[in-house]
Amino acid sequence: MSTPLALEKIVENYSGRDKKLILEAFEFARAAHEGQKRFSGEDYITHPLRVALILSHLRLDARTIVAGLLHDVLDDTRVSPPELEKKFGGEIYLLVSGVSRLGKLRLPKQNLEVEPIERMDQKPASLEIENLRRMFFAMAEDIRVILIKLADRTHNMETLEFIPQEKQKRMALETMEIFSPLAGRLGIGTIKTKLENLAFPYLYPKEYQWLKESAEKKRAEAKKSVDRARENLKKNLEKEKIDVIEIKSRLKSYFSLYHKLLRHQMDFDQIYDLVALRVIVKDVKTCYTVLGAIHKYWRPLPGRIKDYIAFPKANSYQSLHTTVICEEGRILEIQIRTPEMHAVAERGICAHWAQKEGVDLVRRGKQFAWIQQLAGWQKENQDAEDFLEGLKIDFFKDRIFVFTPRGDIVDLPEGATPVDFAYSVHSEIGHHCVGAKVNRKIVPLSATLRTGDVVEIIVDKNKLPSRDWLKFVKTGVARSHIKKRLDVGFFRGLQALRKKFFPFEKEEKAIEKETPSPTKAISVKKEPAVSVGGKTGVAFFLAKCCRPQSPDQEIAAYLTKSKGASIHVTNCQNFKKLKTRWPERIMEARWP
Ligand code: MN
Repeated sequence: MSTPLALEKIVENYSGRDKKLILEAFEFARAAHEGQKRFSGEDYITHPLRVALILSHLRLDARTIVAGLLHDVLDDTRVSPPELEKKFGGEIYLLVSGVSRLGKLRLPKQNLEVEPIERMDQKPASLEIENLRRMFFAMAEDIRVILIKLADRTHNMETLEFIPQEKQKRMALETMEIFSPLAGRLGIGTIKTKLENLAFPYLYPKEYQWLKESAEKKRAEAKKSVDRARENLKKNLEKEKIDVIEIKSRLKSYFSLYHKLLRHQMDFDQIYDLVALRVIVKDVKTCYTVLGAIHKYWRPLPGRIKDYIAFPKANSYQSLHTTVICEEGRILEIQIRTPEMHAVAERGICAHWAQKEGVDLVRRGKQFAWIQQLAGWQKENQDAEDFLEGLKIDFFKDRIFVFTPRGDIVDLPEGATPVDFAYSVHSEIGHHCVGAKVNRKIVPLSATLRTGDVVEIIVDKNKLPSRDWLKFVKTGVARSHIKKRLDVGFFRGLQALRKKFFPFEKEEKAIEKETPSPTKAISVKKEPAVSVGGKTGVAFFLAKCCRPQSPDQEIAAYLTKSKGASIHVTNCQNFKKLKTRWPERIMEARWP
């Protein structure tokens, strides 16, 4: 058998001993799976090969690729654990056996029902599912085990059509509930999106079919106009003398589109980012310059400018987002980021390691520089354990996992104390805690917890929280419960101060509160489509204070922070107040 194309693609990126090791692992896996077939009828080896290819796209180290090639030999072949360890060493053995251990975790039986998709946003993930996700993290002593598992699931989903029907739904559900969120938490956008889109047609076949039929034309139209917007943007940025690496237009994936439609009464006109533009520039400073330039030419929608550079998402995602009204009146979402931020958006934690090493992937043009760097760093340390620690550190740096005496996992920020633990279990346990045992030894309430600790809280019903706790607790939950209980005086003082400096904030809230939420208004009665800023399809609701009703009334829109445009009669007292304070948020509005 000749070298398969996928293998050639993989080894292209590795050299010397790494390349040799990958080729050896491939031969070993091929021999071990000899004669086995996939449900698709293909030779079994096509599966580990594809898994290794996906891992190489994430630009992982050679040992992860090797473990990907070998990931099924312990479960599905005659290869024994000692044999594998002897042949490939302890590190690869640990990765492979880790993957096979994770393979045995299953979605709890009671969760095998498919929830109606409308509820996904409101419904908090059930406790078992959340625990299962945490279990994956806690059990995988090396984060690379999870990456291999994700690649494994990706190929199994790619070939789901060949799998017996009764298994399809369970696998699709597990993918949607466990694996896609795991990828999301690690920031691996490419895999997260891929898994969602692979699972979607199996979980919601009717919805998928409807979407495909109704979205195709809209997407094509939107794509054309966005391509024109891209050309204009390119010219404008040239005029401003801003160096741009790339401007790309992209289509929203089916699943995220469907999810968004549900929140907008299935109205395509309300989806602003059916297609979106992405601008990539060399550094952070240029990102802000580009944002300014865009707003100079196109009017931004208030409340839609998001600065994830200054405030990164929990999974390290960074970018600037803005939504603008461009020439043709089309509302367009634009993301602005650097090549490093782009790498993090696509490959998450995998790219993050690279950046920690201070390697600039794109400018160096050497995609694998960081792996070489890691390897060099490993030589310096001469210690495989340190090397593994280095890989683990990033993920675990801000979270720890501790256990209750019953074995439930509690996920806390690093530096968390027994008091944080107590409050995250239950507020009453927090309020009355007087002592704690960690791994059966009494510790102070301010002790720092570590991953793997078993924590037991000693309570006394007659005791109440102490003000001193505020000095050491790490979680917001604990902090707010303690403050509430203490009813701290200075807290009230602070509120008075806030009122003094931000007098309008409360007022705006009060005004917004008077008006019903748009979803409610629309679901109760379909309002006529008022146009805002010359456009129909903008989310709006009729203000409750002045209740615009008849087409003879002159109306105008005030753009609220989160609920869309509120439509007022122009001589409404509230509206006049809003207009003087936030003139930039006022837009013209017309009856249809
Ligand atoms: Mn597999």
